[in-house]
Amino acid sequence: MDIDYDVIIIGAGPVGGYTARLLCERGLSVVMVEEHNEVGRPFQCAGLVTPSAMDAVEAYDTVVEDVDGALIHGPSGTLVPVGRQGELRTYVVCRKRFDQTVVQQGLEAGADLLLESQPTSAEVTPDGVEIEIINQRTKETRILRSKLLIGCDGAHSWVRRRFKMGYPKEMMVGFQTEVVGYQGKEGWLEMYSGSEIAPGFFAWVIPSGNGTHRIGLWSKADLLDGRTVLDCYNDLLKHPLWKDRFENIIETARYCGPVPSGMIRRPFKDRVMVIGDAAGMAKPTTGGGLGPGFKQISSIADKLVERINADQLTEKDLKAVTKSSWPKMKKEQDRARALRDLLVSTRTDEELDEHFANFAKPEVISLINEIGDIEKPVPLGLALLKKVPAFRKLALQAGVKLLFS
Ligand SMILES: Cc1cc2nc3c(=O)[nH]c(=O)nc-3n(C[C@H](O)[C@H](O)[C@H](O)COP(=O)(O)OP(=O)(O)OC[C@H]3O[C@@H](n4cnc5c(N)ncnc54)[C@H](O)[C@@H]3O)c2cc1C
Repeated sequence: MDIDYDVIIIGAGPVGGYTARLLCERGLSVVMVEEHNEVGRPFQCAGLVTPSAMDAVEAYDTVVEDVDGALIHGPSGTLVPVGRQGELRTYVVCRKRFDQTVVQQGLEAGADLLLESQPTSAEVTPDGVEIEIINQRTKETRILRSKLLIGCDGAHSWVRRRFKMGYPKEMMVGFQTEVVGYQGKEGWLEMYSGSEIAPGFFAWVIPSGNGTHRIGLWSKADLLDGRTVLDCYNDLLKHPLWKDRFENIIETARYCGPVPSGMIRRPFKDRVMVIGDAAGMAKPTTGGGLGPGFKQISSIADKLVERINADQLTEKDLKAVTKSSWPKMKKEQDRARALRDLLVSTRTDEELDEHFANFAKPEVISLINEIGDIEKPVPLGLALLKKVPAFRKLALQAGVKLLFS
């Protein structure tokens, strides 16, 4: 097969842009195919980028606020402050500019970009992949051929569905507004919990620069009991404990979107792979998908490029490329989910209140600050179970869950 590109990437989101950059920097020819007429819109994101994810793309000029910590509220109001003033925990970015910066890096490394374009069919042959692309404005179609097709096309990935690659283990739903008029502590985000506000998960208020805030929440359909995330959002604003904080807000924008978490069983097939949200990479504990998506591709980039150059891209070859990192990432995700369920998602408000009373003890807060790492929640969960007497009764259940996760 005469190929047009070594790799065709469907989706020019942050993970598509970063993937394009890493592959181009290693000498490959790459095209990104993006259905929208601009990069970075529409976006559904709270805009939190961890330092390690930021290190990967160095998009520092998209930062709108540095965050030192979180003020976490239990269902009855117990406050657990996590973080230390002046010690950066995470960045808040303008997500549109962040996506554009990352995709621009891909273009500068040599990738091409087709906007307003979507795949309509894709066939894999022993020699390559043949993809029909339609331009949505002109309705013109063209055939592109490559050695490898990568789906970076988000939570409802066309590539994943076309090649019947399965589904992420969980699909949470997130809702968020942007507001002015909220008075929060500068450089600190806030989290609210409880079954009325965010069943099994949490709501957030994130400072986003120039006096603006992002207010949102996420949960799962089976925990919402017929309510919508918008109902929960309204309940947060009217909650007797918190309503005073929200009384002067003016909404300027709102979004709703899926958070896929739980790496799919087969993220690759002959000449096809999926990365980022398409593969279900978001963290089960925070919903953050940028860092895991970046890590998923950076952990295999060198080996993958060797295989692409040698045109060895069967499912077996791709399994060999990914086997030292992806199963480990999946396992870590499964363990974090098991601990999240045990400590938070399956708990009643009364039980959560008890947990918060324990979290709020000074020695536990020190432990959280010492071991707590948004990137690796499992060690913290295990330390809490081991070192906090009140949590010891959960340790056996945790052991069983971790064993079978
Ligand atoms: C409310 C909410 C808040 C969140 N907050 C955070 C946060 O604070 N921090 C964080 O790290 N993560 C957060 N996430 C998750 C984060 O937004 C995603 O994990 C991240 O965007 C994944 O990047 P991606 O490139 O894999 O997919 P996307 O960002 O979804 O990009 C996919 C791209 O593919 C394009 N595309 C899709 N289908 C096609 C097609 N058929 N043809 C062509 N193009 C296509 C899309 O237009 C898009 O440009 C949040 C999610 C939600 C819903």
